[in-house]
Amino acid sequence: MAEHMLILGVTDPAGRKRYLAAAFPSACGKTNLAMMTPALPGWKVECVGDDIAWMKFDAEGRLRAINPETGFFGVAPGTSMATNPVAMATIRSNTIFTNVGRTSDGGVYWEGLDEPLGPGVTVTSWRGEPWHPGSPQACAHPNSRFCVPAGQCPSMDPAWQDPEGVPIDAIVLGGRRPQGVPLVFEAFSWRHGVFLGSAMRSEATAAAEHQGRCLMHDPFAMRPFFGYNAGQYLAHWLSMGHQDGARHLPKIFHVNWFLKNQDGRFSWPGFGENIRVLAWICSRVAGEDNAEVTPVGLVPKEGALDLGGLRGVTHKELFPMDKGFWAREVTELRAYYEENFGEDLPREVMEELEGLEGRVKKM
Ligand code: GDP
Ligand code: MN
Repeated sequence: MAEHMLILGVTDPAGRKRYLAAAFPSACGKTNLAMMTPALPGWKVECVGDDIAWMKFDAEGRLRAINPETGFFGVAPGTSMATNPVAMATIRSNTIFTNVGRTSDGGVYWEGLDEPLGPGVTVTSWRGEPWHPGSPQACAHPNSRFCVPAGQCPSMDPAWQDPEGVPIDAIVLGGRRPQGVPLVFEAFSWRHGVFLGSAMRSEATAAAEHQGRCLMHDPFAMRPFFGYNAGQYLAHWLSMGHQDGARHLPKIFHVNWFLKNQDGRFSWPGFGENIRVLAWICSRVAGEDNAEVTPVGLVPKEGALDLGGLRGVTHKELFPMDKGFWAREVTELRAYYEENFGEDLPREVMEELEGLEGRVKKM
């Protein structure tokens, strides 16, 4: 499987290590998650890759993943000591920047860098024009990038270049969903997880920002990269699960860091606090009985997701369960499948949609 996924290792305070692979559409937090500095004490996150995973089942039936890349090609704007200190340490030297602003003392600059300019230092924007904080024009192009050898990242996993790959315990899907989609839920089965991947949607950002916000379908975050019929791609994913017990299939999860409340603010602090969600995912992989069945998937039982010390964050707000929202989602998905997959949509995926529809009707 050649996937648009980050790969990370997460170690709990007891020293138990798991590897996860996660598919998020572009600009939905892959690099940030892969390089995360956990906010919970005792937890460690190590990076295998931030964008691409090649995976296959080994002779023991474990899914193993390698990162085929040797470097990072990350978006500069928004990268700062506050959001991603590991990326900042990685790009301190020996890095190629494209379309960022330049400072008169030989440095680089972009929106959200959050570093004060030294006295007398001036900035030239990516367009080559004089720029100063507060200028109406952007300092850096929204898709300006850094390109840097991965080995410079202080949190690279010891196994990041192991040709055997790392064993994947969980696959995480996600996108920008300002409304309706809970912070985290687990698929009922591999087949349900493939359905969740096919149903991924995300609020469009960056270039599309100016045309107003809209939800784009982006199955498995692969919409820009499908190299063959997307229905056959889904069938391939389904076939990976058809090995009657000979394989240890990873559990599949869906996350949404981007829920917003009525004031338009994020309901979840995100970034290093996402470790709380990874901790629940690890507890599920370890077989803990701490999930509750909902029509959409398995969500943490109240109290199972550690919210300790987070101000103004409530379980209720993070786990919305709105019948009207999911009924619309089902209708829109059916139309999307008909238009884009037609008869190539695997029957199992349609059955999962019908299953969701039936459960939503009973809500
Ligand atoms: P990638 O393109 O998938 O690698 O995404 P990045 O990691 O570069 O992040 C894209 C944007 O999402 C950046 O502006 C980040 O600051 C933002 N972002 C990443 N993780 C989070 C999060 O947990 N919460 C919020 N609110 N924003 C995030
Ligand atoms: Mn990235």
